[in-house]
Amino acid sequence: MQICQMNWMQVEQYLKHDDRCVLPLGSVEQHAYLSLATDAILAERVAVDAAEPLGVPVFPVQSYGFTPYFRAFPGTVSLTLSTYLALIRDLIDGIYGQGFRRVVVVNGHGGNAPAGALMAELMADRPDLQVKFHNWWNAPRTMDYVKGVEAGSSHASWMENLPWTRLSGVVMPETAKPPVDSQQFALLDPVRGRKLIADGNFGGSYQRSDSEVLTLWGIAVKETQALIEGPWRADTKGD
Ligand SMILES: [Zn+2]
Repeated sequence: MQICQMNWMQVEQYLKHDDRCVLPLGSVEQHAYLSLATDAILAERVAVDAAEPLGVPVFPVQSYGFTPYFRAFPGTVSLTLSTYLALIRDLIDGIYGQGFRRVVVVNGHGGNAPAGALMAELMADRPDLQVKFHNWWNAPRTMDYVKGVEAGSSHASWMENLPWTRLSGVVMPETAKPPVDSQQFALLDPVRGRKLIADGNFGGSYQRSDSEVLTLWGIAVKETQALIEGPWRADTKGD
């Protein structure tokens, strides 16, 4: 169930028997040849595919994230860290205020990690709130599969190249990119960082077969779904 396909009466009904929901987080940033909204598209889709069979509502993705280092790439838009944390705090507060008590945050962008740290504080201040902060792409089973197919796969490589992040008419390189020196990249300002990473892929093949990427997707959906299902704190109401 997506919140965008529900009305308030349906949410009111839902909250009478369940208090789980999902909030996807993305980023609007360069992904080499893929969509600038890749992280938002993937986070929302994996959340919806995972939550739909469970009947758990998924809030619309928070598309903008924290990505100052990609600012020199056209189309990349970052929130400042203080704004981002304030915004995430407001979103969780709003969700909590509605009566949701078990929240799975499905994050699609590594730069959003500070939001994960914030969850500990929000839970400490609200003893009946449970939040799982889930980086869908590097969860154990998903990352094991990626590494098994091709070690060194990273940002904007095949692992993010799915039928729903590809752009029509854009031809992908058939090669694999050697890993970017991420320690160097971390020391650079956005302009010099852009020079280092060139097209923006951090390493790995630009594309792989649909059977491989869809297998990856299936694993990621199952792994996300398992987190929504449980386990939750033992004293919370039944699912
Ligand atoms: Zn990404």
